[in-house]
Amino acid sequence: MSLLPIITFPHPFLRKKAEPIAEEQIGSWRPLVSDMIETMRRHDGVGLAAPQVEQSLRLAIISKEVVSDSKDWVLINPKIIKHSWRRASLEESCLSVPGIRKEVKRYVKIRVKARDKDGLAFNFEAKDFLARVIQHEIDHLDGILIVDK
Ligand code: ZN
Repeated sequence: MSLLPIITFPHPFLRKKAEPIAEEQIGSWRPLVSDMIETMRRHDGVGLAAPQVEQSLRLAIISKEVVSDSKDWVLINPKIIKHSWRRASLEESCLSVPGIRKEVKRYVKIRVKARDKDGLAFNFEAKDFLARVIQHEIDHLDGILIVDK
């Protein structure tokens, strides 16, 4: 495993819409996933999206502390398929926008479908802080940063 450099605002790559990962390619990104997990942990992040390490891939990881699981979650081609009408505001920070804290309004509850690191499709409901982190990471996949909110 190795640490990856995190690119920061205003790097133009952060504005690119990331490409979906083909199902049969998912396995080949496993080393990148390991490196992203290591990188996220080293920076005390709660999530990391592939565009932040200059990869145009719809791939994000969510820290196990946020999902209250024994493993970090790997979301491949994640998509919000349903959301609450209610939104809430909270200050967020971002490893790609250092030194800035920004109040961001997010849906309180979302339903997400994605594939895991083995390519298996799954879908789940997330609320509150987990829902917030996932929306933040999906924004990265669409080239959106907290400074745009
Ligand atoms: Zn971020």
